[in-house]
Amino acid sequence: MATLTISNVTKTFGKTEVIHGVSIDVADGEFIVIVGPSGCGKSTLLRMVAGLETVTSGEISIAGRRVNDVEPMDRDIAMVFQNYALYPHMSVFDNMAYGLKIAGTAKPEIEERVAQAAQMLQLEPYMARKPRELSGGQRQRVAMGRAIVRKPAVFLFDEPLSNLDAKLRVQMRLEIKELQKRLGITSLYVTHDQVEAMTLADRMIVMNAGRADQIGAPLEVYADPATEFVAGFIGSPA
Ligand code: ADP
Ligand code: MG
Repeated sequence: MATLTISNVTKTFGKTEVIHGVSIDVADGEFIVIVGPSGCGKSTLLRMVAGLETVTSGEISIAGRRVNDVEPMDRDIAMVFQNYALYPHMSVFDNMAYGLKIAGTAKPEIEERVAQAAQMLQLEPYMARKPRELSGGQRQRVAMGRAIVRKPAVFLFDEPLSNLDAKLRVQMRLEIKELQKRLGITSLYVTHDQVEAMTLADRMIVMNAGRADQIGAPLEVYADPATEFVAGFIGSPA
């Protein structure tokens, strides 16, 4: 069964429809990447799954539960943003523990989960630091740690690496891939970067102006693009 189901979802802002009926099934443990140019509707789609935008029509289900009208806090998801959205006044430990504290998780359980995530993300030496005392890559790891400790049904990533320099981006890509293998995390990952999509995705969705032009394994999409747009966006440079 799919962990996340998006069925024929549309989104209208004012009088303008920006998502025109997108359907995606994300299987348990699957890493799905939504790739497309700026403005094609990637963030809007993700924000609807997260509950940060209402769904105009269609249905979203997480772990078998229809969530159209469920508050963000009550959805079984965790989101990682491009700007990290860490709490500047809190230590790394407290940033990672915060969501669990709010959820009423017992202290020993919080400490165990945070320690585990810190070890996995090589953050152990930095647990007492504030976000401003970290590098961009370390901050991004904290943002991922905060998501991991909550053990959500679905991870949502919105261009998490786009604020990092090119070298770090490549390194973090490998780390995310490694985490994905280790944790078998079910993920919906948004990027405008074709290489990132090809590297990370079990299946990728190529979005074009509010529509999913193609859904398939990266090599399948690369070798057999469904539309001219996909060919131009994913295809090898001439
Ligand atoms: P992407 O993440 O792929 O760059 P977005 O989902 O941010 O694209 O935007 C898709 C379209 O929806 C764009 O045309 C954008 O201008 C529009 N849009 C996004 N958010 C809003 C909003 N809150 N109000 C009005 N239009 C919006
Ligand atoms: Mg966006």
